Amino acid sequence: MCPCCNWRDVCKYETAKVIRIQSKTYGTIRWTLLMIVFLYVCFALLSDKLYQRKEPLISSVQTKVKGVAEVKDGNTKTRVLDTVDYTFPLQGNSFFVMTNFISTEGQTQGLCPEYPTRRTLCSSDKGCKKGKKDTLSKGVQTGKCIPYNATQKTCEVSAWCPVEPERDAPRPALLISAENFTVLIKNNIDFPGHNYTTRNILPGVNITCTFHKTQNPQCPIFRLGDIFQDVGENFSDIAVQGGIMGIEIYWHCNLDRWFHSCRPKYSFRRLDDRTTIESLYPGNNFRFAKYYMEGNIEKRNLVKAFGIRFDILVFGTGGKFDLIQMVVYIGSTLSYFGLATVFIDFLIDTYSSTCCRSHVYRCCPVCEPCGVNEYYYRKKCESVDEPKPTLKYISFVDEPHIRMVDQQLLGKSLQEIEGEEVPRPRRDFTDLAKLPQPSRSDSSPRPSFPEAIQLLKQEPRFPSQTRPKWCHCGHCCPSQMPGNSKCLEELCCRRQEGPCITTSALFEELVLSRSTLHFILLYQEPLLEMDADALNNQLRHCAYRSYIDWRFGSEDMAGFAILPSCCRWKIRDHFPKQDGKYSGFKNPSPYTYLE
Ligand code: GDP
Ligand code: ZN
Ligand code: ZN
Repeated sequence: MCPCCNWRDVCKYETAKVIRIQSKTYGTIRWTLLMIVFLYVCFALLSDKLYQRKEPLISSVQTKVKGVAEVKDGNTKTRVLDTVDYTFPLQGNSFFVMTNFISTEGQTQGLCPEYPTRRTLCSSDKGCKKGKKDTLSKGVQTGKCIPYNATQKTCEVSAWCPVEPERDAPRPALLISAENFTVLIKNNIDFPGHNYTTRNILPGVNITCTFHKTQNPQCPIFRLGDIFQDVGENFSDIAVQGGIMGIEIYWHCNLDRWFHSCRPKYSFRRLDDRTTIESLYPGNNFRFAKYYMEGNIEKRNLVKAFGIRFDILVFGTGGKFDLIQMVVYIGSTLSYFGLATVFIDFLIDTYSSTCCRSHVYRCCPVCEPCGVNEYYYRKKCESVDEPKPTLKYISFVDEPHIRMVDQQLLGKSLQEIEGEEVPRPRRDFTDLAKLPQPSRSDSSPRPSFPEAIQLLKQEPRFPSQTRPKWCHCGHCCPSQMPGNSKCLEELCCRRQEGPCITTSALFEELVLSRSTLHFILLYQEPLLEMDADALNNQLRHCAYRSYIDWRFGSEDMAGFAILPSCCRWKIRDHFPKQDGKYSGFKNPSPYTYLE
């Protein structure tokens, strides 16, 4: 029924019915699992601070590099470079420290030969092309091939002359002393979600310190050489070609008043690739020029700078106690407590698994199939078949179980079909004791057509030559039903040759006894009108039900249970219909049994 059809349906609560198993083993397993889950939930709650609301940070970074380097140029003249010469501020949280360079001084606009390489060498003017602009070349070719030095000739170009020589970076690096430079990092952070601001340099911090992982982990001044040492790199190697280094500042803040802590953790990571294979363009370099005028002529000093770019990466979270967050976490862990149920149910469902018990007389546990689990399983599990129109149950007196047939008969008699065995529902014998004992004096009215009354016959209904071939008890009749319904009535009370169930004393007492049936009818409808003819029909139907109740037991099966022909006819003989035309078994509508 639809749950919202009636307002009364709103005012109800439905709960699942449970089976309580009194078992020390399962009780122990349950409590152990519950304790493990509980401890885990508490541990995770406290160790990962899952009771906190975590917010990301926003930050700003400022850097200041300090240090002086002495550089010996190729012509042995020594120059001193300071911060302005070797550091370049970059966009974002980055700065660049030059460690090596190739400088080409005093370039002017003019005509000069290209630097000799395999691409630019020529032997005559034919090897050069006027107006050619090679992307790799430094200028526009004039079409002439001129000597570069005593031995080599190259194409002439119109360019900044003399052109930059295509040399490898000097080795060792010119600014190798950049190792001793220091950088001061100022980092302000803000947790907008928690409205909390702080910075890495606290008032009163000693500004002459140098960062050390263990001895001075909060110092904001870093020696460049130390940074490379920390990640296991050799500064003098990287200084030649340049590279990219990440300085990570990790803020893991606990903003709860009682455990307040919010200090940064610094770590370093090389961000470019370490390979120095020439074809992969290793290192990090760029060109810049300083322009000046010399006697009305514009000149420039070109510098190809190799160096290290430092990227400062700030990340982290700030957590603060939040009731909603904690409730959400606890709610999400509740399902883990169901783990005990899932596990124990699994043990019960796989009841053929072995149980291990420690035996008093033996030192080691004994394992055997777990009968007790099968018992719990039967208590727990009730199987239901789909009430299909093809579903039928049959019962033979010479078999301990019931058979379920779930197929169209298609001309085959029901007796011939194997079906599937299902256990016979157990009977509560105390119920049977409550049945009325049939009184010998039947007081209920008899039918008004005495010719229809037949005496109980103890001899077979048919001599064995004429009885249907599917009958093994000798009391069955060929079906009178038309068409396919015929097959449904071709069912004997036995699987093998033997005496008929209708000859048993109990059949007479439970199914045929007029007083018993009468009692049942009155029990159901105390003021039943005792009209003799209609009563006979009612008694007959009641006898069918009594038989089915006796042989099948379960109410679920009742509508689908088929009477054997012998019983059907014995009952009909006993409580006949006036015109003798019986309608027989009608397929129950599957849904009538659901109501
Ligand atoms: P009627 O009295 O003329 O309708 O004919 P019947 O004596 O054959 O009784 C028909 C009633 O008994 C119908 O409600 C049938 O569903 C029921 N009935 C007859 N045979 C069977 C049977 O084999 N199994 C079950 N479960 N019910 C039956
Ligand atoms: Zn038979
Ligand atoms: Zn029989």
